[in-house]
Amino acid sequence: MNAATASASPVSNAPIEVDLLVVGSGAGGLSSAVVAAELGLKVLVVEKESVYGGTSAWSGGWLWIPRNPLAVEAGIVEDIEVPRTYLRNELGEHYDADRVDAFLTHGPRMVDFFRKKTTVQFIDGNLIPDFHGKQPGAATGGRSVCAAPFDARELGAHVKRLRPPLDLIAPWGMGIASGADLRHFMNSLRSWESFRHVTRRVLVHFMDLLLHRRGMRLVNGNALVARLAKSAFDRDVRIWTDSPVRELIVENGKVHGALVSTAFGGAPRGDIEVRARCGVVLAAGGFPHDPKRAQRLFPHAPTGREHWSAAPFSNTGDGLRLGESAGGTVPDTLPAAGAWAPVSRVERKDGSVGHFPHLIERAKPGIIAVRRDGNRFVNEAGSYYDFISALFATTHQGDAAEAWLLCDHRFIRRYGLGRVRPAPFPLGPMLRSGYLKRGDSIEALAHACGIDAAGLAATVAQYNRYAQRGEDPAFGRGDTPYNRINGDAGHQPNPCVAPIESGPYYAVHVLPGSLGTFAGLRTDAAARVLDADGQPIDGLYACGADMSSVMGGRYPSGGITLGPAMTFGYIAAHHAAGVALEGAPASTQGHAMTGSAPHIPHETVAVWRPDESSERRRA
Ligand SMILES: Cc1cc2nc3c(=O)[nH]c(=O)nc-3n(C[C@H](O)[C@H](O)[C@H](O)COP(=O)(O)OP(=O)(O)OC[C@H]3O[C@@H](n4cnc5c(N)ncnc54)[C@H](O)[C@@H]3O)c2cc1C
Repeated sequence: MNAATASASPVSNAPIEVDLLVVGSGAGGLSSAVVAAELGLKVLVVEKESVYGGTSAWSGGWLWIPRNPLAVEAGIVEDIEVPRTYLRNELGEHYDADRVDAFLTHGPRMVDFFRKKTTVQFIDGNLIPDFHGKQPGAATGGRSVCAAPFDARELGAHVKRLRPPLDLIAPWGMGIASGADLRHFMNSLRSWESFRHVTRRVLVHFMDLLLHRRGMRLVNGNALVARLAKSAFDRDVRIWTDSPVRELIVENGKVHGALVSTAFGGAPRGDIEVRARCGVVLAAGGFPHDPKRAQRLFPHAPTGREHWSAAPFSNTGDGLRLGESAGGTVPDTLPAAGAWAPVSRVERKDGSVGHFPHLIERAKPGIIAVRRDGNRFVNEAGSYYDFISALFATTHQGDAAEAWLLCDHRFIRRYGLGRVRPAPFPLGPMLRSGYLKRGDSIEALAHACGIDAAGLAATVAQYNRYAQRGEDPAFGRGDTPYNRINGDAGHQPNPCVAPIESGPYYAVHVLPGSLGTFAGLRTDAAARVLDADGQPIDGLYACGADMSSVMGGRYPSGGITLGPAMTFGYIAAHHAAGVALEGAPASTQGHAMTGSAPHIPHETVAVWRPDESSERRRA
């Protein structure tokens, strides 16, 4: 055991042995678990929380996978050099050719594998453009897939442990899928068809609440995790919830397993040594809520607390610390250590505070963002990452990075504003809670928010002057395909620009947050964690947010966290199982299982054997 293990509390159970131990039950961890089980390994997933799914279960469920099979079937065929060019331009000096090639080569194969062999099915994102449409190699579509909706009843009793959708986004716990579903919700008071759709959805949801105490028609990231979990359970993968990993077992520089503290009903209670013959995959979701590392890596967070991530609070950087304890390293040179997104703080009825990520409404026509001086600072219709990057770049040293999203009455009733939902939802509760600020004039709104009133009045007047014609010469709202697809196609001539003129006026305070983190453990193209000399640490893999992002701290497109998370999970599983991946360099191919697996004396371990049905399936 490593030095850290020496101080561990006494282990109260006999050790158990598996082939692969996966730490964390988000998309990265579950992808590696399902693939490894399909390749014949005995897999155990351990999850710190009482629910499985992590941030992935709260996510939009979109994966950026250029050249994916769904695009190809629709006739969108790209040479690998085109997305490579885009990434070379986007990532600049942080472009890691080996890892990018592994991602671009195996991403489509990963999608193909899940579609053909598992319950994980996708819908296409063939109309979804990359974030930076003017960059060479950018696409206007065909590079994304999203989890297809899923009937949670297929999970049987396991549905009880599935993390529900993020309450701030999902009304009454009901996930709303991006695309047609969301459009119907936005138009429910405008079109009979949309009204019928929404009424049906809401009625079915309330029926599910009555019968099952949760929605059963899953969409987005909740559907992705449910589909992955179903595929895992079908292959006898166990998911132990309430089971945090405390330490890695490292012997002679090699990772042999981990010490897990478990309170899960289906496992021996207490501390238990889990020996993993083929390795450990770290997929514990990065460090969005680790103030110590945030203090080191987030320049805007001098105490580590000035960051408001929308990821679950249990993602506290355990995977990175575990990897470091075995010799892994985390870069501090990325342009951004987090996947920045503007968030607003929402106080719930029970007094807890949630972080609402502003992903959608910023591109709609008739909204702007301003700093405390009343000035705009960004094309608000751009990506969430670009929004916060611009806020950092234009905030004077010593000032807090903060902004206000501002609109008029017409806008808020039509599109909503952050946690404030559009009509017919009432504004009163959000006004009373202080989340939503209101003013009968722009100056009154400025006073309510503490924004410079003269500055704000001048900004709105200047914006309105051009907005009448659908123009935004200052920041170019509506200039890129990504801007326009998130705008309102029914609003012309520019789906992202309308004047702000029909008071009263409203604003919501937004702060620097994130959808997760980018800085993680350094790995090679086979997802093996590297030590300070750049050498792979035997038996240790990382994927998802525990792996330092293959995007090098940049955000070229939506889905660039889940796409690589599932792809490197797929790659790690192959390496651990000793199954060669076509096209991967020899140096990153796994060893054959026989011979290379660590010898573990069987008299000291209780071997967990797959049950009969899984033996039959493998036969
Ligand atoms: C609202 C929202 C929308 C998003 N939409 C998208 C999108 O559409 N596309 C996209 O690419 N990205 C999206 N993201 C980001 C994406 O969800 C995350 O980057 C991704 O889910 C991370 O996956 P993961 O498997 O690394 O970690 P997670 O899904 O966070 O899973 C990690 C798990 O590890 C567990 N864990 C932590 N410590 C331990 C321990 N010691 N022992 C055992 N378990 C532990 C955690 O409890 C957690 O359940 C979104 C994020 C948010 C918040």
